[in-house]
Amino acid sequence: LSSARTLWDLLARRAARTPDRPVLLQEDRSLSFGELRARAERVAAGLFDLGVRPGTVVAWQLPTRIETVLLSFALARLGAVQSPVIPFYRDREVGFALRESKAEYFAVPGTWRGFDHTEMARRLGAKGVFEAYDRLPDGDPAVLPEPPAEGTSVRWIYWTSGTTSDPKGVLHTDRSLIAGGSCLAHALRPASADIGSIAFPYAHIGGPDYMVMLLLYGFPAVLFEQFALPDALAGFRRHGVTMAGGSTAFYSMFLTEQRKQPGTKVVPTLRLLAGGGAPKPPELYHSVVREMGVQLTHGYGMTEVPMITMGDPDDDPELLATTEGRPPEGMEIRIVDGEVRLRGEAVCRGYLDPAQSAAAFDPEGFLRTGDLGRLTDGGHLVLTGRLKDVIIRKGENISAQEIEDLLHRHPAVADAAVIGLPDAERGERVCAVVEQLPGAEELSLARLTAYLRAEGLSVHKLPEQLEVVDALPRNDTLRKVLKYKLRERYSGTVK
Ligand code: ATP
Ligand code: MG
Repeated sequence: LSSARTLWDLLARRAARTPDRPVLLQEDRSLSFGELRARAERVAAGLFDLGVRPGTVVAWQLPTRIETVLLSFALARLGAVQSPVIPFYRDREVGFALRESKAEYFAVPGTWRGFDHTEMARRLGAKGVFEAYDRLPDGDPAVLPEPPAEGTSVRWIYWTSGTTSDPKGVLHTDRSLIAGGSCLAHALRPASADIGSIAFPYAHIGGPDYMVMLLLYGFPAVLFEQFALPDALAGFRRHGVTMAGGSTAFYSMFLTEQRKQPGTKVVPTLRLLAGGGAPKPPELYHSVVREMGVQLTHGYGMTEVPMITMGDPDDDPELLATTEGRPPEGMEIRIVDGEVRLRGEAVCRGYLDPAQSAAAFDPEGFLRTGDLGRLTDGGHLVLTGRLKDVIIRKGENISAQEIEDLLHRHPAVADAAVIGLPDAERGERVCAVVEQLPGAEELSLARLTAYLRAEGLSVHKLPEQLEVVDALPRNDTLRKVLKYKLRERYSGTVK
């Protein structure tokens, strides 16, 4: 199986080996590996009848459903180029994705969660719009050309979260996605008796990554159309989920639930929580492991490289809490001027915009991640912030994360983001944007700087501006703080 060259090849091999074993479970529906292959082939034929050919660009904005996985594999069978778009994106991001990818077809869920996607598609002038929620195109597989023979052509266009600027279109091949999924599988070491779960948007790069793991190890996952904690817990219990995953926000929700029922395990079968994609406070890590009685492993990934490092669940807890783990075999990590750079099969082929691609790779073919980090003596990666998060005040580099870490420990601070704002005199000045904990003492710049000084922060790093907000602007997928929005909002404000 691990020598499969395309995603379709991987599915075909798995379906030949264990056709009757389930792969996807959703509410009271289930699909086996054999059915996934057979039904995806019919959907591919239906798409072919619509005019989709190898190389045709097809965008889709669909929730995490069995049908979505079928459509995605049907496109892989055809050798089309697919561009998944997160379901809760609206005109701005969707318009951007459709325009930049030059999609000739656009699959939407119709009206989903009260929002009319078909109407939005029309408003945006999308081409080839079709609904693919509970009914998919269908046809006779006899019409199909041969499946793609190699996995080295660009067949996926993913969109970055747009945390630092406009989203970037990231080019992946079947090969890079298989490499990413193999790394994930290698880190999590699932058994065929495991039951996984996909409670995040399948349109995220983590979707095919996870599917590759299911195909390699031949075990199923429970799908959740949209994440809501009570539904997720009920689904986990009902299907006996052993492996769940998500990002930092997901662990804390879980932990809050666990604290309501001390002495019992909220999901009795759960053995492993695996996630990543955002910073995790070490205290949260320890609380989850201690209070929930599960293993927790957290990793570092990006749209450009779905899996970069992941903690080994059996590693020392302190290492798991404070590092992102080690890179898998085949992933080369270099730290150049503090920046993490990567080379390996799981790395994307570049960006849609050739100028972005040219700037992204160094002369030796390493991807510049824009993330700052260091490697411990044991080869574990510690992330320390983002390159674009470095504030340069009077020529001194200041890490936003260092200040944020201190602010997070302040008793009146619920959350905080530190940004640099253009400043005629200093180049940039340090601005702290803070969510205040309800009921806590009123925050003021003077109080906060006194606290930061008492904590030992150098004077030149002290925030010179404080903005107290009800809620920091966040993206919908991983709840990451959108600092560019804060920079836009507060640039030009003088304090
Ligand atoms: P854009 O590239 O458009 O600005 P983005 O980088 O946030 O957006 P993604 O590809 O979704 O878009 O996110 C990848 C980034 O998330 C990584 O480059 C890193 O900065 C951050 N990240 C991922 N995993 C972790 C982690 N375990 N700890 C801290 N940060 C992480
Ligand atoms: Mg990025």
